[in-house]
Amino acid sequence: MTKYIFVTGGVTSSLGKGIISASLAKLLQSRGYRVTIQKFDPYINIDPGTLNPYEHGECYVTEDGAETDLDLGHYERFLNTPTSKANNITTGRIYQNVINKEREGAFLGKTVQVVPHITDEIKRNFRILGESGDYDIVITELGGTVGDIESLPYIEAVRQFRWEIGSGNSLVIHLTLVPFLAAAGELKTKPTQHSVKMLLEYGIQPDILVCRTEHHLNADIRKKIALFCNVNINAVIESIDASTIYDVPLLMLKEQLDKTVLTKLKLPHKTEPVLDNWKDFLGRLKNPTADVRIALVGKYVELPDAYKSITEAFIHAGAAKECKVRVEYIPSESLTPENAIDKLKGMHGVLVAPGFGERGFEGKIQAIRYVRENNIPFFGICLGMQCAVVEFGRNVLGLENANSTEMNPETAHPVIGMMEDQKTITNKGGTMRLGAYACELKKGSKAATIYGKTSISERHRHRYEFNNEYLKQYETAGMLPSGINPENGLVEIVELKNHPFFVGSQFHPELKSTVANPHPLFINFVAASLAYARKK
Ligand code: GLN
Repeated sequence: MTKYIFVTGGVTSSLGKGIISASLAKLLQSRGYRVTIQKFDPYINIDPGTLNPYEHGECYVTEDGAETDLDLGHYERFLNTPTSKANNITTGRIYQNVINKEREGAFLGKTVQVVPHITDEIKRNFRILGESGDYDIVITELGGTVGDIESLPYIEAVRQFRWEIGSGNSLVIHLTLVPFLAAAGELKTKPTQHSVKMLLEYGIQPDILVCRTEHHLNADIRKKIALFCNVNINAVIESIDASTIYDVPLLMLKEQLDKTVLTKLKLPHKTEPVLDNWKDFLGRLKNPTADVRIALVGKYVELPDAYKSITEAFIHAGAAKECKVRVEYIPSESLTPENAIDKLKGMHGVLVAPGFGERGFEGKIQAIRYVRENNIPFFGICLGMQCAVVEFGRNVLGLENANSTEMNPETAHPVIGMMEDQKTITNKGGTMRLGAYACELKKGSKAATIYGKTSISERHRHRYEFNNEYLKQYETAGMLPSGINPENGLVEIVELKNHPFFVGSQFHPELKSTVANPHPLFINFVAASLAYARKK
């Protein structure tokens, strides 16, 4: 039978529930268990696809085309196994399902209520992955903080669920903060005590407390927390600030979180976790032999979480090359033809980020012109690739005012246009070209060499595409469409022939980069930037 672990948070948000969940999953996976993680978010949006990145950070896209919370990216990067639609559920989705059932007549005669109808639907969703037969353990991370009005139905659903599946089959891990009061020179346990009291009010006794702290918890503090919160002393787990999120699995191993979990779930400990590859990655990450500066040009750079998967992909690729990648964020709006050279001076590579809308678009074009003309390594992702096509159209092909119809629907040269099947869509949510699509790489292209094969599959999230009417002109002038979707002929990747590294991908390679499998495009971009830095 599948066992269930629930991860809740107290005291404050941003304690890192996602990283703790992913780290625990990593340890259990490396002991030989089949584990997955799902996240329940207590907001009314059906998914985060329509949220501004400033609100919620990056929107992570799964193989099956779900637009999800960025924590799913962490799950995939740690576990190296894909997630799916079922791994991220929001309150909006729960209510939508219940309301649809109501309209179908499934509750005929009944008043539809939060308890039991919403809580039943939450519990049904808790079980979906567990019942697939694919997992021994399902970790469910509950978004929000205990005590929030919106979290209440979830907490109640956990209480009912635990009672239904019987003891030993589930456990609750509660994350709290143990702040250090500088004036008193002490760590304080009171917020943790209050947070656990609140959970107890809702009928849940946490089994394990993971205490986020800036200083080590000594035996007295652990004893005190154990005594006041009714947990065993070995269930008080220290989660100290780490220099990288990738240290957290090893920190949790040291705290024996995995053993405590398995004992409480009455599961055999099996072998000690095999983490050789992980440690090898950390070793390379922490002992770089070189350094490169890469500019990330984008519209949402004030919030680095907006580009989470890209920055993590750089960490993976940097470790692969034993090279520290210094990502420097440049707001695209700040770039003009006059200052682009100045702002990008000293950069060894430039990545133009995905995005939507006109703001900052012309700045990206300037950045691309500069790197193209100066042989600086360039990587454009999604909108970044579209910008590269527009720049090449304007400045090499001489197509005056060439543009994407997203920026100027009236342009005389729509080198990027809306996909045919997008034109009739009016709803915004979940209607882009989403998820994994096949791509055939041209033999002999840089892309094929980088991937080491010609059939690939990558994830998408866009409405616009390369306009194939211009294909010949681009190819003749040296911009090669090196990857094509075999079913519909869409251009998925372009590259410049006479340039050390100039690649634009319509897909999002960053979504598939993991610790175990750093993405080849990122590795090669970092390598090209390193070569450029050495030449300088
Ligand atoms: N706005 C562009 C489109 O919809 C690019 C999207 C993206 O960068 N993810 O096609």
